[in-house]
This record gives sequence, structure tokens and C-alpha cells, in this order.
Amino acid sequence: DAALSIPDKKVDSVCPYCGVGCQLTYNVKDNKILYVEGRDGPANHARLCVKGRYGFDYAHHPQRLTKPLIRRAGVPKRADMAMDPERVMDVFREATWEEALDLVGNRLSSIRDHYGKKALAGFGSAKGSNEEAYLFQKLVRTGFGSNNVDHCTRLCHASSVAALLEGIGSGAVSNPVMDVTKAEVVIIIGANPTVNHPVAATWIKNAVKNGTKLIIADPRRSDMDRLTHRFLQFKADTDVALLNAMMHVIVHEGLVDEQFIASRTIGYEELKHNVEGYSPELMAPVCGIDADTIRYVARLYATSKASMILWGMGVSQHVHGTDNVRCLIALALMTGQIGRPGTGLHPLRGQNNVQGASDAGLIPMMYPDYQRVDNPEAIMKFERLWGTTLDKEPGLTVVEVMHAAKEGKVRGMYIMGENPAMSDPDANHAREAMAALDHLVVQDIFLTETAYLADVVLPASAFPEKTGTFTNTDRLVQLGRQAIDPPGDARQDLWIIQQIAERMGLDWHYTDVSDVFDEMRRSMPTIAGITWERLLDEHAVTYPCTEEGDAGDAVVFTDHFPTATGKARFVPVEVIPAAEKPDAAYPHVLITGRQLEHWHTGSMTRRATVLDALEPDPVALLHPLDLERLGGKAGDLVTLTSRRGEVALYARVDEGTPVGAVFVPFCYYEAAINKLTNPALDPFGKIPEFKYCAVRLSLGGTS
Ligand code: SF4
Repeated sequence: DAALSIPDKKVDSVCPYCGVGCQLTYNVKDNKILYVEGRDGPANHARLCVKGRYGFDYAHHPQRLTKPLIRRAGVPKRADMAMDPERVMDVFREATWEEALDLVGNRLSSIRDHYGKKALAGFGSAKGSNEEAYLFQKLVRTGFGSNNVDHCTRLCHASSVAALLEGIGSGAVSNPVMDVTKAEVVIIIGANPTVNHPVAATWIKNAVKNGTKLIIADPRRSDMDRLTHRFLQFKADTDVALLNAMMHVIVHEGLVDEQFIASRTIGYEELKHNVEGYSPELMAPVCGIDADTIRYVARLYATSKASMILWGMGVSQHVHGTDNVRCLIALALMTGQIGRPGTGLHPLRGQNNVQGASDAGLIPMMYPDYQRVDNPEAIMKFERLWGTTLDKEPGLTVVEVMHAAKEGKVRGMYIMGENPAMSDPDANHAREAMAALDHLVVQDIFLTETAYLADVVLPASAFPEKTGTFTNTDRLVQLGRQAIDPPGDARQDLWIIQQIAERMGLDWHYTDVSDVFDEMRRSMPTIAGITWERLLDEHAVTYPCTEEGDAGDAVVFTDHFPTATGKARFVPVEVIPAAEKPDAAYPHVLITGRQLEHWHTGSMTRRATVLDALEPDPVALLHPLDLERLGGKAGDLVTLTSRRGEVALYARVDEGTPVGAVFVPFCYYEAAINKLTNPALDPFGKIPEFKYCAVRLSLGGTS
């Protein structure tokens, strides 16, 4: 019926999935989203990928949480309990908001008062708005009383941020994705943009069509292979060997930018000395790329008029993730390939607001705008702004919180919109840790695997049900607008955070989301110039924007770096191996990641009709030779076993996955691959090694 499909309103917003930050329009009728259209945003120019265009009807899914839930007395929390949507009411009972919030406030306050402030922790969400992230971390810091607050940035680019802050004084990108169209050479390492940043990939493809030379370095071949000038399929875990060898070439062939090094950097001599031992001939057998190719790519990058590096979690999710990024920074600095259009460093951010949530202080060692929690000036500033005394020690990170919970040091947690039962490494351990808590409150839109372990579940609002700002990978602060109302008694997240704050003794008076944004501007110099009115008018403003009326700088570091000296710093690194190498018992390498149609732990996209129809089953991607050796064929069940767990998935043939490795997306609850991953951490970014651990494959199993 044509009349049924005519929208009664159109609402301009942004995509809820990846960090590209595509602008879109919701077409709504009778509080239901009918369809989505791309609009002309700076990052997408009306383009959308399959998730942005079709991944919206999760908001109307019958499994949406519509009432607060309280765990029934006597129902144990069992880490190994399979979630059964049909039997939710055997585990939980419905409650009023008043009862649920009073219980949360009382239990969290009593843990804090009895066991101390550090016995509480909070995980916020990179899917929430900047305002939600800001209020959440403020609640933990001022209501719980410690810096035990983190979110999934710890699992994606924490190592990138650590290296960038150390080297160039800023954790964000130097140039927007769109700058690939101005680059002569683009290097993409450890990223698969077609799958994970699909609209960004279209700009890269356009650039290649116009003559940009694309170099991809990755242990897995992707479909962008066909567009590359060179594809470097290096051995997994050997990033530092490859990158140090490239720097060796640049130094030895005199391709460095001496003037840039002299005027804009410190520490070059140590770096130069360090890469001396990494000749291409020595490193070729280590990384699996021949010496001539290493030389060719190094020369190309160093001598082009404008070269840009983009990277993803293939770089960051290693115990040497920070070292990998230190090498990328050094490459850009030694060649002066930064601070101009078409150059620079771009860590492709994952979630739609992981940049903004980090900026807003949802991390245990930083207040908003990366002001350190152990810096006396910053402490004084935020104590004055928030009217209370603050803890002066950095808090625990995501994985550390789970260890502390297992040991009984953390006893109460508030988790908003994250699903660590699926996303944490060694997920069985994470589930046991959460099950051991005295009190767990989970705020979400579905009964996730994490919520199943909660004492109280609070029904929250989905992305199209609220208004707020979201910061994309390009440092673009964009306005997401409410298009529909939440179902049943589900409430806006900002309201829920404030209700808990009130019950923990805080006296807040935010009447509108813009009040929160105004407070953020007062504490965050980089967005101080962005007014709410301007966001309403222009939809998106790039930071740094320090004064009202500033255009905002898309390209930064043009004449100085935001460090104490104004100069960037080289940090030399040596090769450190993965924490768990394959051996006779576990001979394969497990690499985890995402797939195009699903998002992270799948709680939204697996409930989006079109996306779930496209990719309904858990799959393991194997090289055909490995599958043949197993004696199996595509579609057979394959069981993967590591020292930490076992799951079974359907085999899919993938010539891009190297022989001896297996790639598995982490979105399938029925085959939660993070039960197998290794919680070993990068010592600087505290990021787990999701991209490398040892597993054994066998044919058969049950899924
Ligand atoms: Fe959404 Fe990312 Fe796809 Fe754009 S590229 S539509 S932001 S998922």
C-alpha cells in the first residue's frame, strides 16, 4: 500500500554504526522508521553503506527492553548460562523505575561506603552521545569516587592514542579521510575499510581512480587488493620489523626531510641509530616481504609530494600495538609527511562515537580533553567545576576491572551500552568476573549477554530515540536528532544517568542535552568555540574550534604540535613477539575482527532484518588449503579451541586469510569467539591482543 509507506516526517541525523559518521535522514511514519536516506554530510556526501541504509529496524525489534528488570531472588548468576529470550521472566521480574533506581542507588552507595570508592567501576559506551559519555564519567568520578571508568576504546585504539599523545601530543587524526583524494600515496595498514569503514573506502577507491597510488600492508588480503599499487601481505605479528625496515631504507638513502626533523621534532638520532639493525635484507624473512618491495614502498612514501597513512585494529590490537603506531608516527615525522593536506596520520576510529567518548573523558587516566587525572592543575580545574574532591590516581582499564572483580576488589559495576560478555578477551573469564559482582546494573536496549548477568537491567533508548552530539573519526562533532520515541517504559540514557546520580547523593540540574554540552565546552578547550545553535544550524563542526566563529581545523599540526615544546618526538622501538605463539598443541593463529553486515557484538545488526538475512550464521574464514588439510569443505562445522575456550562455526573458504591462520568475526553470541582470545595487554595502551593467539582446529562440533 503506497499510502502506508509515505513518511509523515523526515529527521536529519547521523549513522549509529561506524566512525566514518555518515549523515542520514530518517523517514518516519507513526513512530516507525520506514527507510533511511543518505544526506550531504562532510564525510559521506549522501553515500551510505549497507549498515547505514538498512540497519535501522533493530529499534523496532520485539525483543526491545521496555520495563526495568530485577533479578528474581535466588536465581544464580551463571557465567556459562545460555541466554534464552523465551525464558527471561524465569530470571528477572518487571519493576517500576522507582523500585529499580532505588535498588541501584542503594546497592552502589552501600558498596562504596562499605568497601571503599575503588570497589565500584563503570563502563560507558562509544555508541552513546558525547553528553552521555561526559555525564557517565562525571558520575563515576564524583559519585562513585574513583577514576574506574572506561569504555571500548580500550579494545580498539587505546594503543594508537597512547602513541599519538606521547609522540605528537594529540590522540586524534591529523587529516580527515577525505584527504586521501589529495594524496599521491596512501598507505593503509592493518585495516579493511571496505568492511569496517565502507564509505571511507569509497573515497579511497575514488582517489585510486584519479591516480593516487594505494599501498596496503596486511596479513589478510582484502578485496581492495585489486586496486592496490602494491599489496604487502606481511606475516601477522611482524609490523615493527616491516616498518623499521622501511625507515632503515629512508635513512640510508637520504630520503629524510632534514629541515622538518630539525625544526619540528626531537629524538631523531636515537631513532636513526635504532633502525640501523633493521635492513630490508635482514627483515625480509621475518616479515615475509622481499627486500626490493620494502625499498620500493619506502621510497615511494618518502618522496611523494603528499603521503598519508591510515590504520586500523590490525595495528593496534597487539601487545606491541603502541610500538606499531610509534613506527607509523616516526615514518611520517622523518619524511615530513604531516601537517599538510593529503598527508598525515589517520587511525580509523571504530564506533560512531569512540572519538567523542574518549574526548569526553570516558577513560581512566584522563578527564575530558585528555587532561590527566594525576596532573595537579587538571585536578584543581575539575574539582572547581564539579564542586567536589577527586581521586588523584588513574583508574582501572576494561580488562583490569574484570581481574579486580574476579579477585573481589571491584564489587559493583554500572555498564551502559557495552557488552563485555561478548567483547572482552577471554570472555569466559569476563563473564565469571561479572557473575561474581555483588551488584551489576546494565543499561541497554536489549537483554545482551552482559545484561543476562545483571542484578538490575534498565531499558534505555536506541540511537534514533535521542538527541546528542557524536564525533566521527575526522574530529567532526555532529548532531544526531531524535526521530522516534522509545518503546514502553524505556527511557533516555541521560535521564537514567541523572536518576542514579541523584540517588548517590549528587545534585545535578540539567534540563536539556544542550546544558550538558555547554558544561563540556567550559571544560574542553578543543570544543570551546562550538555552540549548540551552530550545531543546530550547520549539523557538524570540526574541532579544534577554540573560539566562537572558528571554522575548525580539518588539517592540524601545520606549524606546531600540541606538546610542551611544540615539537614531535621520535620513539624508537624493537620487535616484541605476540604473547602466545602457535605451537604443536595449538598450531593456528586466530585473528578476530568484524564483517560488513554486522556491528561489533551484533546486538543491533543481528536484529536488523536485512543485515541478519545477509549474514545469519557464525563463520570461520579459512584458506582453502587449511580446510582441505582438515578434510572439510565450505559450510562444514569447524571447532576452534584455545587454552581458554572452544567454539564451533561454519567454515567459509577465504583465499585472503593466510595459510595457518583463521579469521572469525566477534558478533555471534552462539559462537562467541572472544571465549578464545588472549587477554595479554599492550603495556602502554592496555589493549588486549585480539589480533593474535594460538588455536587448534578440528572438523565437527555443535553450533
Ligand atoms: Fe554508517 Fe559507517 Fe556505513 Fe557510513 S560507512 S553508513 S557511518 S556504517
